[in-house]
Amino acid sequence: MRLIITFFFIISLFTGFISSQTLEERANAISKEEMQSVVEFLGNDLVEGRAPGTRGGNLSEIYMKSIFKLLGMVPGFNNDYMQPILIKGFTIDKLTLNGNGVTLNYLDDVVGSWVGSDENFNLKGDAVFVGFGITAGLWKWDDFKNVDVKDKIIIARVNDPGFYNNAIFEGKALTYFGRWTYHIEEAIRRGAAGILLIHTDETAGYGWNVVKNSWSGEEIYLESDISNNLKFRGWISEASFKKFLETKKIDINKLYELSKSPKFKPIPLGFSIDISGTAKKRELVIHNVVAEIPGKTDKKIVITAHIDHFGIGLESNGDAIFNGAIDNASAVSAMMVTAKILKEFQKDLYYSVVFVACQAEEAGLLGSKYFVQTYKDRDKIIANINYESTPVWGKTTDFMAVGGEYSTIEDMLKPILEKEGLQYSYFSLTNQGFYFRSDQFPFARYNIPAVWMSAGENDDSGQKKYPQYWKTNYHTVNDEYDPNWPMDGMKETIKMTLLLIEHINKTQAIPQWKRSLPFPLLIDKK
Ligand SMILES: [Zn+2]
Repeated sequence: MRLIITFFFIISLFTGFISSQTLEERANAISKEEMQSVVEFLGNDLVEGRAPGTRGGNLSEIYMKSIFKLLGMVPGFNNDYMQPILIKGFTIDKLTLNGNGVTLNYLDDVVGSWVGSDENFNLKGDAVFVGFGITAGLWKWDDFKNVDVKDKIIIARVNDPGFYNNAIFEGKALTYFGRWTYHIEEAIRRGAAGILLIHTDETAGYGWNVVKNSWSGEEIYLESDISNNLKFRGWISEASFKKFLETKKIDINKLYELSKSPKFKPIPLGFSIDISGTAKKRELVIHNVVAEIPGKTDKKIVITAHIDHFGIGLESNGDAIFNGAIDNASAVSAMMVTAKILKEFQKDLYYSVVFVACQAEEAGLLGSKYFVQTYKDRDKIIANINYESTPVWGKTTDFMAVGGEYSTIEDMLKPILEKEGLQYSYFSLTNQGFYFRSDQFPFARYNIPAVWMSAGENDDSGQKKYPQYWKTNYHTVNDEYDPNWPMDGMKETIKMTLLLIEHINKTQAIPQWKRSLPFPLLIDKK
């Protein structure tokens, strides 16, 4: 008997020795196969590009749930892995805009969404030019000046006044106030009946074709985003807007000039716009997939990555499947490897870690927004770490925490990167407003410090493959899985994230905002 006990004692010493691998050593041992596994599946043609509510989209949700279960993680939303989200979808069939005898046509001149209940719609309202349509206390800017635009059709420029003045709105870098999503939010707050965003290549950062492609199919919304007075949200090409203005002999450049000044006031254009057409609508239920690794406290770190992409679209070069292998299957892969390793080190977790495979990010961060809106333990979330389009190429010399500069997360991460010989860097594409365009942003708006973690742009091929990706393959049918990807960028992304989480757990520090935020919070600061 004694011999047997001694034997087991020795065995347990031995296995104890084996499992005394540190988190860092485990991160160094992440295999290429572990990282390939999820992206290889989600990027496969059979998953059909994972559009929300399609077979491929539903299949991706089930797949996430399976892996969470396999990893031994507990259900993360009301004792379930699946968080149902009711979505409303609208597709415009016909659309015309009439103003002062000028008729504008769908797709060539104007695109948009009708989010009302009628299939045959008609809306008439006075046209008011609202400049950039921005109210931003941080830069003491208010384009509305208490002018009532309720029930009007407002026409706004996209981008922000920093486009013309380096001293405000972070200069040429796109702030949240410059994003079209913000202009729509402000129109809702003001009670407008419709909004038309003026498109120029310069201020939008992309051509009319991009606007046309992304607004010509079904647009999906959360109920909370459409239960308001703003029934029409759309874009008008600058040339078409000029046709309206010519009938009143208004010079567009004069309007633009006025909009650059903080003294700007809304300008009634002296005519009304009649918006009419037909639209189809439907309801669908999709799911965020949520799982948790409980720590010693119920305070939580939330890790996110979106599972959706565009599905099957228009064919180009014989391919119609938007696989979204990098956007965002690679990031989901990174999230799942992170989950696997944190589960192995669960005993070291002070904070609980929640993983959310977010739905409908591409439609406007709908899944993450809904999660933050409805999560009953929102007050217990201390930070959000998001993975988005995780680099799959070689080792890099730099690393990014997009949005890290707004909070103490940056200060926690910098020494970790320094030890690894990695430089802390920023996206070179500053006109893209990346921080506001992925799932970290809804967390930030609910007052939770949030970052998007990613290996940087300088990979060892010397070809800057990551910035290249954004310019060439992003949101095209060419975003496909390649078994020859080196995956070192993903490994770095996972490792730095694990080390950051380890640091937060060891110090029990709670990340804090550290500067004025260039976007409006949706709840009061704590
Ligand atoms: Zn994405």
